[in-house]
Amino acid sequence: MILLNPKQLNRFYPDDKSREIMQKTVQFFENKGKKKLKSDFHERVWYDDFLGFVKKEKIFSTLLTPTPYGGSDDHRWDTWRNCEFNEILGFYGLCYWYTWQVSILGLGPIWMSKNEAAKKMAAKYLEEGEIFAFGLSEKSHGADIYSSDMMVTDLGNGNFRANGGKYYIGNANKARMISTFGILDDSNEYVFFVADSQNKNFELIKNVVNSQSYVAEFNLQDYAITDNEILGKGEEAWNSALNTINVGKYNLGWASIGICTHALYEAINHASNRILYGKYVTDFSQVRQLFIDSYTRLLSMKLFALRASDYMRSASLEDRRYLLYNPMVKMKVTMQGEDVINLLWDVIAAKGFEKDMYFEIAAIDIRALPKLEGTAHVNMALIVKFMANFLFNPKEYPEIPQCSDAANDDFLFNQGTTRGLGKIQFHDYQIAYNSFDLPNIAIFKEQITALKEFLTHATPNEKQQKDIDFLLTLGEIFTLVPYGQLILENAKIYNIEESIIDQIFDFMVRDFSKYALQIYSKPSSTEKQMDYALKMIRKPKENVEQYNSIWTNHVYALKGIYEMKE
Ligand SMILES: Cc1cc2nc3c(=O)[nH]c(=O)nc-3n(C[C@H](O)[C@H](O)[C@H](O)COP(=O)(O)OP(=O)(O)OC[C@H]3O[C@@H](n4cnc5c(N)ncnc54)[C@H](O)[C@@H]3O)c2cc1C
Repeated sequence: MILLNPKQLNRFYPDDKSREIMQKTVQFFENKGKKKLKSDFHERVWYDDFLGFVKKEKIFSTLLTPTPYGGSDDHRWDTWRNCEFNEILGFYGLCYWYTWQVSILGLGPIWMSKNEAAKKMAAKYLEEGEIFAFGLSEKSHGADIYSSDMMVTDLGNGNFRANGGKYYIGNANKARMISTFGILDDSNEYVFFVADSQNKNFELIKNVVNSQSYVAEFNLQDYAITDNEILGKGEEAWNSALNTINVGKYNLGWASIGICTHALYEAINHASNRILYGKYVTDFSQVRQLFIDSYTRLLSMKLFALRASDYMRSASLEDRRYLLYNPMVKMKVTMQGEDVINLLWDVIAAKGFEKDMYFEIAAIDIRALPKLEGTAHVNMALIVKFMANFLFNPKEYPEIPQCSDAANDDFLFNQGTTRGLGKIQFHDYQIAYNSFDLPNIAIFKEQITALKEFLTHATPNEKQQKDIDFLLTLGEIFTLVPYGQLILENAKIYNIEESIIDQIFDFMVRDFSKYALQIYSKPSSTEKQMDYALKMIRKPKENVEQYNSIWTNHVYALKGIYEMKE
């Protein structure tokens, strides 16, 4: 089974240490139990117990210290194993995931910088169980990261003073190294420097959210910096901001996958034991449909995110395809996560509000993920840049195998330029689609053809190309193509049953039709565009036997396989 089951961790690892970390982490949460997990959530308790466990087991140190700075072969930055660690944390609660995630973001500009002293300091703090933070966002600038009011004054002789505020900065109540983004006031260049939350000129104002996590507003007042704390200036600083987000945004999808998996187990356990009008809730036809859609969507989220990891781990300056797949894990997978929780909530209804259920956490936390690290819109605006080359200008690449080796992901900290996205070429998506002969994939391929006809013969006009609302919908349709492609590539690697693949393309065909209808209905769509949009609207092919077999053998079969200890 590809879904995470904490009772039966079965993921392949080339080494014992990685397996041990996953097992111990699951054990930590199962020992803590659902009752305490929930009461800490309700009382907004700072997760000292979790951080104590992480420190004792040196988990962040092992997983987040790149090979040259760690003390052993176990220390490496390995996306293959970090995926599952993300997933486990999401499975038990987003706050645990968040402290790990913002530590990753805080470490990004440090590991990317040329400042060896800062790197050694980070490795030491990791070893000592400290957490880290990423100070990019500001109160008045939100997604507009080009603007910053954090001013850094160069006093000469390697001395600087920083003045300004930051907002929404996770872990900034405790972190000893906060990678902080600002502007050098004399040259107007960007700068990344390290600030310490324990410094006397660091003013912690408040936690801006009502949760277990500390998402800080802070001010720096005449905060003294030396060359030792400068991580980078100018283009280097800018690149490390964006390249860090490239690394971090990938984790958001995994948090969604973890949350949805736990919620799915809870929902099937509840519905399959509840009797209404003398029959089980799982006997209602709409409930089965909701479950089958949840299951196939969740499976697709995981197949896609796993495959995206292969492209991330094998990326190089010559192969930057990960720059499309990463924002998709952020944007598409997290939004699919919201869909899965919506579907499951319709099944368990009032139960989803109960204070003793995990689902209550899931329903709240799942909403955060599309909004962190650039909103879904910002990421979609990015994805649209790849559309022309992806659909019309493919190139040959050697096939990328599954990357589960115990390697340090060196390239992630040497990504180089953030420019030239529109020039990146991709391998031909048709290879994956043509390697299956299934009814719903055939329909989906016809929809892709109609999309290409739309783009070729009814190309969005200049006004539409400037209308973000129009582009976002077009982007949703386009995203389905690489989404399906990577799902299919991984379905082969994981040997997924053909019936499940066809059922996945049942919802993919429906989603394609939904977005095509939205394009059709846009005020600015032309008659010609409307005609092509109608060609994209298709109905999946029904297969009752397949549907029933997936229900019995894959979805209903999840009943009772996992329940968190009280
Ligand atoms: C719980 C939480 C934790 C966070 N942790 C951190 C952290 O640790 N460190 C950190 O630096 N930041 C952090 N953030 C900030 C987060 O990354 C920002 O919320 C995010 O970048 C978007 O800013 P905003 O929410 O203020 O949206 P706004 O900037 O106010 O956006 C408003 C609207 O404009 C749209 N929009 C903006 N730009 C574009 C564009 N280019 N194209 C199309 N539409 C656009 C948005 O989609 C949105 O609909 C955190 C936020 C939250 C809520």
